[in-house]
Amino acid sequence: MKNFLARQKQDGFFSIRFKSAAGTLTAAQLLALHELAERFGAGVVNLTSRQEISVPFVRREDFDALEKFCAAHELKISPLGTIFKQVTACQGTQTCPSGVIDSPKVARELERRHGGRELPNKITCAVTGCPNNCMKVDANDIGVKGVVAPKFFQENCIYCGACARVCRVGALEVDREKNFWTIDRDKCIACGRCVKACKKSALSGVVGFKIFFAGKDLLPTIHDEEKLYEIVDAALKYFSEHAKPRERLSKMFERLGTDEFKKFLSVV
Ligand code: SF4
Ligand code: SF4
Ligand code: SF4
Repeated sequence: MKNFLARQKQDGFFSIRFKSAAGTLTAAQLLALHELAERFGAGVVNLTSRQEISVPFVRREDFDALEKFCAAHELKISPLGTIFKQVTACQGTQTCPSGVIDSPKVARELERRHGGRELPNKITCAVTGCPNNCMKVDANDIGVKGVVAPKFFQENCIYCGACARVCRVGALEVDREKNFWTIDRDKCIACGRCVKACKKSALSGVVGFKIFFAGKDLLPTIHDEEKLYEIVDAALKYFSEHAKPRERLSKMFERLGTDEFKKFLSVV
């Protein structure tokens, strides 16, 4: 049976965590949490590192009533333990000018597929909308980063240099006198700023997903969203079948290496 009560250091008190939808709560849910914290807690809430809301100072004997309150107010209690934790996400293309993928949509789908799933140890997962990496995906067990690789159309280029001026890593070189344009793909971090800067349709962006496992960049960029989900499905299957009880993903890699894991994912 899933455990929802996180023991506090104060005897007889527990904190209860509530899920957000990839970092988003409706105003109605916030009002309900306000009432819940007043009725069942100490009138305060805490934000967790996984974009959950935690209500402390709840008594065990009030939990059944609290559950009923949640059912009536569309609040979802987050389970504890060795599970697939709530997926965190930035707002990506929904509101951020730098976004290249819809991070909340990806996070919600990963949550739908795996949220609360029992595993040998916990798996943290984050989705970040662009290479700025606000969600620090490489510090999670599974991280998804939106990227956009520029594609050059020479026939449209007027060699104005606008693209090179916005590139923060110096990956582009443009010479107006010599009609010269080149990109250093090793330097390019696939942020797509140059694509947005070009007003002559000489650059288009190829959107993709980079996926990290325990901070490791093991796979080429994925361009098909469904394939991204299938790869995460397969990675969790491998973890379930190969990790020892209480072993984190990074420790499993230290023990087994990553070659077999990569081979397992390559057939997806
Ligand atoms: S990672 Fe990119 S898309 Fe997400 S909030 Fe940061 S800048 Fe915006
Ligand atoms: S901004 Fe566009 S037109 Fe100008 S140099 Fe770059 S690719 Fe060419
Ligand atoms: S995608 Fe970003 S890093 Fe790559 S060349 Fe364009 S501006 Fe530079």
